[in-house]
Amino acid sequence: MLRTALPAVTTDQLPGPKAQSLIDRRAQAVPSAIRCVYPVAIARGEGAMIEDLDGNRFLDWIGGVGVLNIGYSHPEIVPAVQAQAEQYFHGMFNIVTHEGYVALAEKLAQIVPVKGDSKKVFFANSGAEADENAVKIARAYTGRPNIITFSGAFHGRTLLTMTMTAKKGYTIGTGPLATGVYRAEFPYLYRKPAGMTEEEAVAYCLDSIYNVFEEGTPADQVAAIVLEPLQGEGGFIPAPIPWVKALRKICDDHGILLIADEVQSGFCRTGRMFASEYWKEAEAAPDILSTAKSIAAGLPLSAIVARSEIMERDNLADRALEIGKKVMDRFQSWKTTYPVIGDVRGLGAMIGLEFVKDQTSKEPNGDLVSALVQECAQRGLLIENAGRWGQVVRFLAPLVITDEQLEAGLDIMEDPLKACL
Ligand code: PLP
Repeated sequence: MLRTALPAVTTDQLPGPKAQSLIDRRAQAVPSAIRCVYPVAIARGEGAMIEDLDGNRFLDWIGGVGVLNIGYSHPEIVPAVQAQAEQYFHGMFNIVTHEGYVALAEKLAQIVPVKGDSKKVFFANSGAEADENAVKIARAYTGRPNIITFSGAFHGRTLLTMTMTAKKGYTIGTGPLATGVYRAEFPYLYRKPAGMTEEEAVAYCLDSIYNVFEEGTPADQVAAIVLEPLQGEGGFIPAPIPWVKALRKICDDHGILLIADEVQSGFCRTGRMFASEYWKEAEAAPDILSTAKSIAAGLPLSAIVARSEIMERDNLADRALEIGKKVMDRFQSWKTTYPVIGDVRGLGAMIGLEFVKDQTSKEPNGDLVSALVQECAQRGLLIENAGRWGQVVRFLAPLVITDEQLEAGLDIMEDPLKACL
């Protein structure tokens, strides 16, 4: 049983022949910037063990860099994912409320050690997205533009989180970076300035924040101070609790929010469900906590594809053209019939229908769209608005929609429009 097996390399060399062949294909198909220095092509995983394509068994001490705190293919996760996939694979939360989302939000609100009794939670896809959203929330809440991050920090690879990240190797050739990000010293006590005690080093790092207030951004323009409770990428450096307590005080004194990036440190990794529990015990709980990775044992999976021809198994691209033509024809006919429709536009099966008060003035008619959205929902058709004034209905139906479903939807949508004649 792999779950309890010990490491065993049985091929003459690594990578074995099958792994080598896949690694060669990878080199052709995937940018080398997504670096991999391991000779492993996974066939399956259980617990902390990987079996590769050639039958070699590896013990994984990396765990997806913090993604797999509960190991590969956990026996409770696998059937849960299967069961969910059979019920429905995706439900966009802006469109349909689903229980799993709400239940997880409730659970996290109970266990996440942020300041305050009543908590709210929302979800994104990756650690970087969580961090970006934490910053956005802090900016919106405080009405301030700037943030402070630290030497050694890693917060992700999106534009903002790359800016927040200390190591600029990640950014080469991709600038300009985001504005409003200032950096202070993280107390890397092992490498503290020569001759300083730990207390003096902590004070020195705190001073660097006051330097930022003097020379970078005034404190009253700072929305948040963001830090990892234990720097991961920066070298597994724990934030000393006295320093965190002092940060908490600086934040309280200046109306700044304290954000704990627990993307890597969350979910039991540090001996608590979240490392910030240690902060809380020291009366220095953060205001906002971002987390990811082990929250879902490897789900969700995101992917970015660029400049490649894509072969789709179900010929969905062709189907999009078919659907698009049907919808476009019908919408165009509505435009000549109903004076509240100003424009019909789109590409393939991504189509917008813009509503106006009248076609001459082009005054946006978001109210009508809102009413239409509700009316259609009541009749079993879910449509959504778009546009600056909410004046556009967007068509983004799944491309597996049948012709009958498509016609039925168009009929449902047209019915309330008849009142606009
Ligand atoms: N923040 C920390 C502390 C991380 O360790 C990471 C990833 O390693 C991120 C943010 C970015 O997470 P993701 O790769 O899911 O975007």
